[in-house]
Amino acid sequence: MTTSNPFSLDGRVAMVTGANTGLGQGIAVALAQAGADVIAVGRSAPSETQAAVAAAGRRCHWVEAALDEATHVADIVERGNAALDAPVDILVNNAGTIRRADALDFTEADWDAVMGVNLKTVFFLSQAVARTWVAAGRGGKIVNIASLLSFQGGIRVPSYTASKSGLLGITRLLANEWAGKGINVNAIAPGYYATNNTQALRDDPERSRDILARIPAGRWGEPSDLGGAAVFLASRAADYVNGAVLPVDGGWLAR
Ligand code: NAP
Repeated sequence: MTTSNPFSLDGRVAMVTGANTGLGQGIAVALAQAGADVIAVGRSAPSETQAAVAAAGRRCHWVEAALDEATHVADIVERGNAALDAPVDILVNNAGTIRRADALDFTEADWDAVMGVNLKTVFFLSQAVARTWVAAGRGGKIVNIASLLSFQGGIRVPSYTASKSGLLGITRLLANEWAGKGINVNAIAPGYYATNNTQALRDDPERSRDILARIPAGRWGEPSDLGGAAVFLASRAADYVNGAVLPVDGGWLAR
């Protein structure tokens, strides 16, 4: 059903990777509150997210899958499309991982693990979803979760920085190729959020203090801070937004 509210996601199905926790959970719940049913893709049961989505009056189905290997992405899309009574309209590539070590000591295993989940799988999952949309003669929305390290170098996270910088490039490339097919590809760059991803930083008093001192908003982000940006980019309101990146960072990049 089309409503007059351009931000409404009523009747849409949103596939969100890594929706069991952290930012993915915040995004899934926000999309559900805007009217979407959710396909949560990941390796851990998204029980908490399912309860929160149900509380918003929407459905949440778990497609169990590890995202290290891009070989089975078509299967993920098939399972996602079959799970509810409507196919996926929105893909949020949120799942991501990070490995921390000095560049001098960084291992090939830590390089490959991060690049696999954060970049390779994102590209091939996007390709698999877009193929179904193009085959059906319809469009859709893809939202990639980038990072401040899509713009900056970071410290002790070489593969993470490479993956997130690459993700922004891929966002723009896919936007260029697919905008004319009615597929909007955009990114959100979260700042520093209190999730598992940043546990090591928050456990280090010096790093934690330095980071906080640089955030104009004066606090770490909470997963719920990201929801509105995801709803916007997933909605009709963003039909003419292509290849953009929206920082949601408490002002970090403005400083
Ligand atoms: P998180 O709490 O660690 O969540 C990461 C999610 O990715 C989890 O659902 C995790 O599943 C999933 N994941 C990781 N590796 C996976 C794999 N091999 N197969 C399947 N799922 C996998 O961290 P987060 O902060 O919410 O991160 C979400 C996204 O935001 C990531 O892309 C991250 O890079 C990005 N980001 C975070 C921040 C921040 O400050 N927190 C800032 C910028 C960008 P499991 O629970 O099963 O491990």
